[in-house]
Amino acid sequence: MMRLFRYLKPYRLPIGIILALVFVQSLSELYLPTLMSDIVNFGISKGDVPYIWQIGGIMLAVAIGGTICAIISSYMSAKVAMGYGKLMRGKVFNHVQHFSLQEFDQIGTASLITRTTNDITQVQQVLVMILRMMVSAPMMCIGGIIMAVNKDAKLTLVLAVVIPILALAIFAVASKGIPLFKAMQKKLDKLNLVLREGLIGIRVIRSFNRTTHEKQRFNDANTDLTQTAIKVNRIMASLMPIMMLAFNFSTIAIIWFGSDRINAGSMQVGDLMAFIQYATQIMFSLVMVSIIFVMIPRASASATRINEVLEMEPVIRDQANGKQASGQHGYIEFDRVTFSYPGAENPALSDISFSARPGETTAIIGGTGSGKSTMLNLIPRFYDIDSGRILVNGIDVREFSHEDLRAKIGLVPQKAVLFSGTIADNIRYGKRDATDEEMRHAADVAQATEFINGMPDGFESTIAQGGTNVSGGQKQRLSIARALVRKPEIYIFDDSFSALDFKTDAKLRAALKGETVDSTVILVAQRVSTVMDADRIIVLEEGRIADVGTHKELLEKSDVYREIVSSQFSEEEIA
Ligand code: ADP
Ligand code: MG
Repeated sequence: MMRLFRYLKPYRLPIGIILALVFVQSLSELYLPTLMSDIVNFGISKGDVPYIWQIGGIMLAVAIGGTICAIISSYMSAKVAMGYGKLMRGKVFNHVQHFSLQEFDQIGTASLITRTTNDITQVQQVLVMILRMMVSAPMMCIGGIIMAVNKDAKLTLVLAVVIPILALAIFAVASKGIPLFKAMQKKLDKLNLVLREGLIGIRVIRSFNRTTHEKQRFNDANTDLTQTAIKVNRIMASLMPIMMLAFNFSTIAIIWFGSDRINAGSMQVGDLMAFIQYATQIMFSLVMVSIIFVMIPRASASATRINEVLEMEPVIRDQANGKQASGQHGYIEFDRVTFSYPGAENPALSDISFSARPGETTAIIGGTGSGKSTMLNLIPRFYDIDSGRILVNGIDVREFSHEDLRAKIGLVPQKAVLFSGTIADNIRYGKRDATDEEMRHAADVAQATEFINGMPDGFESTIAQGGTNVSGGQKQRLSIARALVRKPEIYIFDDSFSALDFKTDAKLRAALKGETVDSTVILVAQRVSTVMDADRIIVLEEGRIADVGTHKELLEKSDVYREIVSSQFSEEEIA
């Protein structure tokens, strides 16, 4: 957790002020019982009214001063902690933006969300506690003991008996509670995961009538978390009665032994009263310390989880001064590329070699899971390969800066993703400063104009969160327009025509041809009709290239390709 607190640097000044205020407040609290004992000893017992007024006035002033310090320090510590939380959330979010997909796979989206929200809140809460008690608890404890000894040294023996007992009890409670606090954070992750899946997959869940199953799953995770929380709180709740018991018994003991001493004339009534208050302050400070000690392990479990994110070095490092493109433009070459997903047994791709140049269309066809998407994801360097090379314009993709490399690429992912905002916003995502002209043209080519015009506000119509108010095919066309508006050197279409009807598919591909004369196109498709007129068709099978060639060549030499073709066309159509 200490490592996380290094980010408190910008708050050094307010923290200093808070600690000073708390210091003054603690002093005032330590001084009040002494003033009170003076009133009792020298005022009330002697009937000296002016003296009572005088000391009473001082008491009032000290109490008001202490209260003002307390108010200001609470206000400031709340502000510091909130500001710190904001800072940390920003830091985590910015850091995560640099992650490669590998790190996302590793931590998991649900856990990343919990870490950015709940875990940071935990640290924030303990920070408030620490700010307020770091100074006051030790001061009240040590100061209280000094003052108590000062009032009556012999009576402190009572405290010497009570405090160790109280400390032992606190220790027992804390050591039981701390592991449970740590477990709670993990269970919260789990709950988040189930909740996310349940909400994102709501359509699937309903259509397969799995609502009860999902409810059960959520219920299990929910109950699990609740039971741990209840257990932890039950244990923590026992602290209070233990503390009260210790308070009251020590008060009884102090009065019991103190009254003897007053009878014997070796103690005054006011001192006895002050002594009881100091004893209370000492024990109370012990409880404070114990609460901090319980909260710190919990927050430090959270801090570890935050640090894990902050200290995770993206496996794929961005090149600060990446090589600039040579004279070439839009060249792609795979050179004996082998790639496995982290933790996977078999490589997802093995020994892939091919090259593509501007004006050419390379199509990839193959069964599901054959590695088509994987192959495309390697070009923008979402993952790093195990062996071989991927060259863009003759330069290894690892030598580009991410920004330069990705600026060359217009990617249409297999799962079309839109952002909440207008249609125009979504198309301009590809190129921020695109003119209206460019945007409309891109929509035209993507065959999206017709349905956009059919929408109530045309290009200014809003897309709901997750793009739920447009159909799958419309989503695909918008994400194609988004890539087109960029005018990239390299187009990557990952099965981007799958949700289009045959007619739109054909029209779109005809329009694309004119658009991509100077660019390299790599596309994945399921339909033979989509890949048929590509310059090169790569047939993938279990991560290996089974055959390469044009439609004609493949019909002659490739059994796998013929099989795919015959599964889609009848005999006459092929001929
Ligand atoms: P395709 O696009 O041809 O249907 P993919 O390229 O998506 O196939 O997947 C190829 C193989 O890699 C599959 O066996 C799949 O299980 C695996 N795979 C895909 N994505 C990941 C991932 N993020 N982590 C681990 N394995 C993955
Ligand atoms: Mg795929």
